[in-house]
Amino acid sequence: MRILIIGGGAIGSATALFLKRLGGARVDVQVVERDSTYARASSALSAGSIRQQFSTPLNIAMSRFGFEVIGSAADEWLSVDGEPVELDFVPSGYLFLATEGGKATLAANHAVQTRAGADVLWLEPGALAPRFPWLSAEGLAAATLGLSHEGWFDGYSFARALRRKAVSLGAQYRQAAVTGLRRSGDRLTSAQLDDGTVLEADAFVNAAGPWAREAASMCGVEVPVFARRRTVFALGCPTPLPRTPLVIDPSGVWFRSEGAGFIAGWSPGAGQEDPDDLPLDADLTLFEDVLWPALAARVPAFEALRVQRAWAGYYEVNPFDHNAWIGPHPDIANFVQANGFSGHGLQHAPAAGRGVAEWLLHGRYEALDLSPLHMDRWRRNAPYLERNVI
Ligand SMILES: Cc1cc2nc3c(=O)[nH]c(=O)nc-3n(C[C@H](O)[C@H](O)[C@H](O)COP(=O)(O)OP(=O)(O)OC[C@H]3O[C@@H](n4cnc5c(N)ncnc54)[C@H](O)[C@@H]3O)c2cc1C
Repeated sequence: MRILIIGGGAIGSATALFLKRLGGARVDVQVVERDSTYARASSALSAGSIRQQFSTPLNIAMSRFGFEVIGSAADEWLSVDGEPVELDFVPSGYLFLATEGGKATLAANHAVQTRAGADVLWLEPGALAPRFPWLSAEGLAAATLGLSHEGWFDGYSFARALRRKAVSLGAQYRQAAVTGLRRSGDRLTSAQLDDGTVLEADAFVNAAGPWAREAASMCGVEVPVFARRRTVFALGCPTPLPRTPLVIDPSGVWFRSEGAGFIAGWSPGAGQEDPDDLPLDADLTLFEDVLWPALAARVPAFEALRVQRAWAGYYEVNPFDHNAWIGPHPDIANFVQANGFSGHGLQHAPAAGRGVAEWLLHGRYEALDLSPLHMDRWRRNAPYLERNVI
């Protein structure tokens, strides 16, 4: 069986890894990646964090497996020739903060998380000051804190480790851009590359990240994924502060410790979305206009923050329900999707890669049923909504 994967970021590489792990010599895996430096790839530009605090049981289960591969057993899954895997994993919780208006949603999410076995603590505002004396509880009605299976890591190293492991198992990477996909009826037959090569395959995986819609358009089908720029700021704070969890403020601003300083960003809320495909230049005005006021209001010591550097990457947004598209395209069964992760794809790469590999090799899911993420939900207009989008 020949599988061609478009895109060798974390998702494409995790898919390659699991295809070889589960399929061995009976599967030929070609990963076509146009830029092996990953300069614009989301996997290299992310905030590299993992959480249990989602609003659907499936996303929680996907993170649970992600935590195993990234956090607790990285050597077991990713080591090549016995070399230790260095992902700089920092175990630390997310702290979600809610106003009165957001309290019911926070409670509903917390109930889902608790039922799914996630170790998440509910905190009334009065419980915040003893735990986090540096935080202002002004305007807050409740909070939740992840007590285990959350943290952060180096996203670029993780994507590299997935690739290295996939290669060690026999996957082949080719540096080229896919520029065309040939279709015969309801099947794809070959991919045209920009170096003139035509590669035939039995199935094709769309792991093109923020460019998944563009890849799909090469065979005349729609995949609603949009590249939305997100700027991350690295910050220094002259006022000494203890290490913080990854704090999600009701304003949409988030921050967490990073080394001796902090990183922070902002997720626009409904109706605030920015245009697609903006150039990947950091939006420096965002700090003064949006981040600083919110950060200084929440953490008085942040009044003294200094921007050290900033970078931008693309969220690969699925505006339909902010969840991934996984599985066969409704119009082309052998064009399998693994995209649209809407900002949580790094932590879900292991579960997505394993699921896509199972689907391709066995025609069904074995470890975790990913069928709620199939694209037919779009056709049926039945969103599988993720409410906790950061
Ligand atoms: C600022 C920011 C913060 C984030 N924070 C987190 C976080 O904390 N936790 C988390 O889990 N996720 C986070 N994410 C999301 C996460 O980074 C992505 O969901 C994930 O990296 C997607 O991986 P991918 O492999 O699909 O995409 P990418 O890493 O973008 O890889 C896609 C690859 O496809 C290649 N490609 C595209 N088209 C073609 C073509 N035609 N031919 C050949 N190659 C092609 C590209 O070159 C690229 O390398 C964040 C993202 C951003 C931008």
